Amino acid sequence: MLQLIYPLEKFIPHDCFKDVFSIDYNKLYENGKRIILMDIDNTLIPYDIALPTPEIRALLENIQKIGFRIILISNNCLARVRAFTEPLGLEFVEKAFKPFGRGYRRALKMASPHGTGEIVAVGDQLMTDVLGGNRFGIDVILVKPLKKRSEKWYTKFNRLNENHVLKRLKKKYPEVHEKIARVNDGT
Ligand SMILES: [Mg+2]
Repeated sequence: MLQLIYPLEKFIPHDCFKDVFSIDYNKLYENGKRIILMDIDNTLIPYDIALPTPEIRALLENIQKIGFRIILISNNCLARVRAFTEPLGLEFVEKAFKPFGRGYRRALKMASPHGTGEIVAVGDQLMTDVLGGNRFGIDVILVKPLKKRSEKWYTKFNRLNENHVLKRLKKKYPEVHEKIARVNDGT
């Protein structure tokens, strides 16, 4: 129902890619970004996997080598988030309640003295990651969800609302809709 409260523009990602490996992190750094708020579930790993894969581990290490600080921000519980982040030694915010303020306020405090202009968020959901980032003036990169089948009921509910938003985007911002659709089709 969030799509009835917030203007459609708050659901528009800054950019979108088919996965986290396709993002040009060097370019983000050149553009002044220093902190990455990274979603976990269906962005880095599917819901039915607990630990970082070797590919994800290598990617996150490379991102850090560029000079980024990575803060993992997840709506999932402490046990799940800790199991994933501990082997990586990364900072995290669990039970973030994206798109609401709790997790973002914690993350922004951790990111300080870097402000919202130097932060970029990455996630797979319009209703949580994109809306949440936009509410705080953070650029958000949308990626295609890794595996929709294993999503929890509340994410499935979000997807229904997301489809509603996508229909409205198609009408009002056809170029945005096309870009998201192209990523989701994997073309
Ligand atoms: Mg997610």
